[in-house]
Amino acid sequence: MSEEKKRCPWCSSDVLLIKYHDSEWGIPQHSDMVFFEHLLMESMSCGLSWLLMLRKRSVFSRCFDGFDYNRIARYDESDVKRIMDDPDMIHSEPKIRAVINNASRFLEIISEFGSFDKYIWSFTNGKTLLYESFPAKRITRSAFSDAVSSDLKKRGFKFVGTVCIYSFLEACGLINDHMPECCRRAETLKMNDCLHVKDENEPLPTFPVRVQRRKKSLGTPGIKQQNSVSASAPKRRRALSAEKTDCVRGRPQ
Ligand SMILES: [Zn+2]
Repeated sequence: MSEEKKRCPWCSSDVLLIKYHDSEWGIPQHSDMVFFEHLLMESMSCGLSWLLMLRKRSVFSRCFDGFDYNRIARYDESDVKRIMDDPDMIHSEPKIRAVINNASRFLEIISEFGSFDKYIWSFTNGKTLLYESFPAKRITRSAFSDAVSSDLKKRGFKFVGTVCIYSFLEACGLINDHMPECCRRAETLKMNDCLHVKDENEPLPTFPVRVQRRKKSLGTPGIKQQNSVSASAPKRRRALSAEKTDCVRGRPQ
Protein backbone atom coordinates (compact mmCIF):
# COMPACT_ATOMS: atom_id res chain seq x y z
CA MET A 1 0.00 0.00 0.00
CA SER A 2 2.54 2.59 1.16
CA GLU A 3 5.00 1.29 -1.47
CA GLU A 4 2.80 2.90 -4.16
CA LYS A 5 3.57 6.39 -2.88
CA LYS A 6 6.02 8.52 -4.83
CA ARG A 7 9.24 9.04 -2.95
CA CYS A 8 12.73 10.43 -3.44
CA PRO A 9 14.50 7.88 -5.67
CA TRP A 10 17.45 7.31 -3.32
CA CYS A 11 15.29 5.43 -0.81
CA SER A 12 13.57 3.00 -3.14
CA SER A 13 16.10 0.17 -2.94
CA ASP A 14 15.55 -0.99 0.64
CA VAL A 15 12.73 -1.06 3.20
CA LEU A 16 15.03 0.36 5.88
CA LEU A 17 15.77 3.39 3.67
CA ILE A 18 12.05 3.82 2.93
CA LYS A 19 11.21 3.76 6.63
CA TYR A 20 13.98 6.28 7.37
CA HIS A 21 12.87 8.51 4.50
CA ASP A 22 9.21 8.40 5.58
CA SER A 23 9.67 8.82 9.32
CA GLU A 24 12.85 10.88 9.83
CA TRP A 25 14.56 12.44 6.82
CA GLY A 26 13.87 16.15 6.44
CA ILE A 27 11.78 16.59 9.59
CA PRO A 28 12.91 19.79 11.37
CA GLN A 29 14.61 18.49 14.53
CA HIS A 30 14.92 20.23 17.88
CA SER A 31 16.30 17.53 20.16
CA ASP A 32 20.01 17.77 20.99
CA MET A 33 20.14 13.99 21.45
CA VAL A 34 18.75 13.50 17.93
CA PHE A 35 21.21 16.05 16.50
CA PHE A 36 24.11 14.21 18.11
CA GLU A 37 22.87 10.84 16.87
CA HIS A 38 22.72 12.16 13.31
CA LEU A 39 26.11 13.84 13.61
CA LEU A 40 27.59 10.60 14.91
CA MET A 41 26.12 8.57 12.06
CA GLU A 42 27.18 11.11 9.44
CA SER A 43 30.77 11.15 10.69
CA MET A 44 30.78 7.33 10.85
CA SER A 45 29.43 7.12 7.31
CA CYS A 46 32.39 8.75 5.54
CA GLY A 47 33.21 6.50 2.59
CA LEU A 48 30.37 4.11 3.47
CA SER A 49 26.72 3.90 2.45
CA TRP A 50 23.88 5.37 4.49
CA LEU A 51 22.10 2.03 4.36
CA LEU A 52 25.00 0.47 6.24
CA MET A 53 24.70 3.24 8.85
CA LEU A 54 21.02 2.45 9.35
CA ARG A 55 21.83 -1.25 9.69
CA LYS A 56 24.54 -0.41 12.24
CA ARG A 57 22.42 2.04 14.19
CA SER A 58 21.71 -0.39 17.05
CA VAL A 59 25.44 -1.20 17.23
CA PHE A 60 26.29 2.52 17.50
CA SER A 61 23.66 2.88 20.21
CA ARG A 62 25.03 -0.12 22.12
CA CYS A 63 28.65 1.05 21.88
CA PHE A 64 27.99 4.75 22.51
CA ASP A 65 25.58 4.68 25.46
CA GLY A 66 22.45 5.31 23.42
CA PHE A 67 24.09 8.39 21.79
CA ASP A 68 24.30 10.13 25.19
CA TYR A 69 26.92 12.81 24.48
CA ASN A 70 27.28 13.56 28.22
CA ARG A 71 28.55 10.03 28.82
CA ILE A 72 30.56 9.79 25.59
CA ALA A 73 32.46 12.99 26.46
CA ARG A 74 33.81 11.18 29.52
CA TYR A 75 35.10 8.15 27.61
CA ASP A 76 38.74 7.20 28.02
CA GLU A 77 41.17 4.80 26.35
CA SER A 78 39.42 1.76 27.81
CA ASP A 79 36.23 2.83 26.00
CA VAL A 80 38.11 3.18 22.70
CA LYS A 81 39.32 -0.41 23.17
CA ARG A 82 35.84 -1.62 24.21
CA ILE A 83 34.28 -0.11 21.11
CA MET A 84 37.04 -1.31 18.79
CA ASP A 85 36.63 -4.84 20.24
CA ASP A 86 32.91 -4.96 19.38
CA PRO A 87 32.74 -7.37 16.43
CA ASP A 88 29.84 -5.52 14.80
CA MET A 89 31.33 -2.04 15.03
CA ILE A 90 32.91 -0.18 12.12
CA HIS A 91 36.54 -0.63 13.03
CA SER A 92 37.88 2.81 12.29
CA GLU A 93 39.77 4.09 15.29
CA PRO A 94 39.97 7.67 13.92
CA LYS A 95 36.17 7.74 13.55
CA ILE A 96 35.60 6.32 17.03
CA ARG A 97 37.99 8.88 18.50
CA ALA A 98 36.26 11.60 16.47
CA VAL A 99 32.87 10.69 17.99
CA ILE A 100 34.35 10.93 21.50
CA ASN A 101 36.06 14.22 20.69
CA ASN A 102 32.89 15.60 19.08
CA ALA A 103 30.84 14.83 22.21
CA SER A 104 33.03 17.22 24.21
CA ARG A 105 32.84 19.88 21.48
CA PHE A 106 29.06 19.38 21.37
CA LEU A 107 28.87 20.07 25.13
CA GLU A 108 30.89 23.25 24.63
CA ILE A 109 28.35 24.48 22.09
CA ILE A 110 25.51 23.69 24.51
CA SER A 111 27.36 25.61 27.20
CA GLU A 112 27.80 28.61 24.90
CA PHE A 113 24.38 28.71 23.21
CA GLY A 114 22.13 26.96 25.72
CA SER A 115 21.54 24.07 23.33
CA PHE A 116 22.89 22.68 20.07
CA ASP A 117 19.37 23.27 18.74
CA LYS A 118 19.73 27.04 19.25
CA TYR A 119 23.22 26.99 17.74
CA ILE A 120 22.36 25.13 14.55
CA TRP A 121 19.08 26.94 13.84
CA SER A 122 20.78 30.31 14.41
CA PHE A 123 22.40 29.88 10.99
CA THR A 124 18.99 30.18 9.29
CA ASN A 125 17.07 32.16 11.92
CA GLY A 126 14.97 29.06 12.56
CA LYS A 127 13.95 28.61 8.91
CA THR A 128 14.27 25.58 6.64
CA LEU A 129 16.24 26.32 3.47
CA LEU A 130 14.78 25.61 0.06
CA TYR A 131 17.11 25.82 -2.92
CA GLU A 132 15.32 27.10 -6.00
CA SER A 133 17.94 25.43 -8.21
CA PHE A 134 16.88 22.03 -6.79
CA PRO A 135 16.13 19.46 -8.18
CA ALA A 136 17.33 20.60 -11.61
CA LYS A 137 20.78 20.61 -10.08
CA ARG A 138 21.96 17.89 -7.71
CA ILE A 139 23.42 19.59 -4.66
CA THR A 140 25.86 17.91 -2.27
CA ARG A 141 27.29 21.02 -0.58
CA SER A 142 26.30 24.65 -0.25
CA ALA A 143 27.39 27.97 1.21
CA PHE A 144 25.27 26.99 4.23
CA SER A 145 26.97 23.62 4.76
CA ASP A 146 30.37 25.29 4.11
CA ALA A 147 29.63 27.80 6.89
CA VAL A 148 28.48 25.16 9.39
CA SER A 149 31.35 22.81 8.53
CA SER A 150 33.89 25.62 8.86
CA ASP A 151 32.45 26.74 12.21
CA LEU A 152 32.39 23.19 13.60
CA LYS A 153 35.99 22.63 12.48
CA LYS A 154 37.06 25.86 14.18
CA ARG A 155 35.42 24.54 17.32
CA GLY A 156 37.48 21.34 17.08
CA PHE A 157 34.96 18.88 15.60
CA LYS A 158 36.35 16.07 13.41
CA PHE A 159 34.85 14.31 10.37
CA VAL A 160 32.58 17.27 9.65
CA GLY A 161 33.41 18.14 6.04
CA THR A 162 30.93 20.20 4.08
CA VAL A 163 29.42 17.22 2.16
CA CYS A 164 28.94 15.32 5.40
CA ILE A 165 27.35 18.37 7.01
CA TYR A 166 25.10 18.95 3.99
CA SER A 167 23.68 15.45 4.54
CA PHE A 168 23.27 16.21 8.24
CA LEU A 169 21.38 19.45 7.48
CA GLU A 170 19.07 17.62 5.04
CA ALA A 171 18.43 14.82 7.53
CA CYS A 172 17.61 17.22 10.38
CA GLY A 173 15.29 19.42 8.31
CA LEU A 174 17.43 22.55 8.03
CA ILE A 175 17.44 21.97 4.27
CA ASN A 176 14.46 20.39 2.54
CA ASP A 177 15.59 18.36 -0.46
CA HIS A 178 12.59 16.08 -0.89
CA MET A 179 11.85 15.85 -4.60
CA PRO A 180 8.83 17.87 -5.81
CA GLU A 181 6.89 14.68 -6.55
CA CYS A 182 7.80 13.03 -3.23
CA CYS A 183 4.91 12.36 -0.84
CA ARG A 184 6.95 13.70 2.09
CA ARG A 185 7.77 17.10 0.59
CA ALA A 186 4.47 18.80 1.31
CA GLU A 187 4.21 17.12 4.72
CA THR A 188 7.67 18.24 5.85
CA LEU A 189 7.29 21.76 4.39
CA LYS A 190 4.25 22.26 6.62
CA MET A 191 6.44 21.68 9.68
CA ASN A 192 8.47 24.90 9.46
CA ASP A 193 8.76 28.31 7.81
CA CYS A 194 11.02 28.27 4.77
CA LEU A 195 13.78 30.50 3.54
CA HIS A 196 14.05 30.46 -0.26
CA VAL A 197 17.59 30.59 -1.57
CA LYS A 198 18.45 31.00 -5.26
CA ASP A 199 21.17 28.39 -5.42
CA GLU A 200 23.64 26.56 -3.25
CA ASN A 201 26.30 29.25 -3.55
CA GLU A 202 24.17 32.12 -2.29
CA PRO A 203 25.58 33.10 1.11
CA LEU A 204 23.20 33.15 4.06
CA PRO A 205 22.42 36.49 5.66
CA THR A 206 23.91 36.90 9.13
CA PHE A 207 20.99 36.81 11.50
CA PRO A 208 20.83 38.86 14.71
CA VAL A 209 21.34 35.93 17.04
CA ARG A 210 24.66 35.04 15.39
CA VAL A 211 25.89 38.66 15.54
CA GLN A 212 25.05 38.76 19.25
CA ARG A 213 26.86 35.49 19.89
CA ARG A 214 29.94 36.70 18.05
CA LYS A 215 30.07 39.90 20.10
CA LYS A 216 29.55 37.94 23.29
CA SER A 217 32.38 35.56 22.51
CA LEU A 218 34.86 38.37 21.75
CA GLY A 219 37.35 38.82 24.54
CA THR A 220 36.64 35.43 26.08
CA PRO A 221 39.49 33.35 24.70
CA GLY A 222 39.31 30.96 27.66
CA ILE A 223 35.79 29.82 26.81
CA LYS A 224 36.83 26.27 25.94
CA GLN A 225 38.49 25.82 29.30
CA GLN A 226 35.50 27.35 31.10
CA ASN A 227 33.13 24.99 29.39
CA SER A 228 35.06 21.80 29.91
CA VAL A 229 32.83 18.97 31.05
CA SER A 230 35.12 18.01 33.90
CA ALA A 231 38.43 18.97 35.41
CA SER A 232 40.19 16.13 33.62
CA ALA A 233 38.51 16.68 30.26
CA PRO A 234 41.36 18.67 28.63
CA LYS A 235 43.77 15.82 29.39
CA ARG A 236 41.41 13.27 27.86
CA ARG A 237 40.83 15.56 24.91
CA ARG A 238 44.53 15.54 24.09
CA ALA A 239 44.68 11.78 24.48
CA LEU A 240 41.64 11.24 22.30
CA SER A 241 42.31 13.83 19.62
CA ALA A 242 41.30 12.36 16.27
CA GLU A 243 42.82 12.79 12.86
CA LYS A 244 41.47 15.69 10.89
CA THR A 245 39.63 14.07 8.04
CA ASP A 246 37.00 15.35 5.65
CA CYS A 247 33.98 13.36 4.67
CA VAL A 248 33.07 12.88 1.03
CA ARG A 249 29.53 11.61 0.58
CA GLY A 250 26.26 12.71 -0.90
CA ARG A 251 22.76 12.23 0.41
CA PRO A 252 21.69 8.75 1.53
CA GLN A 253 22.32 6.14 -1.10
ZN1 LIG B 1 11.36 12.44 -0.30
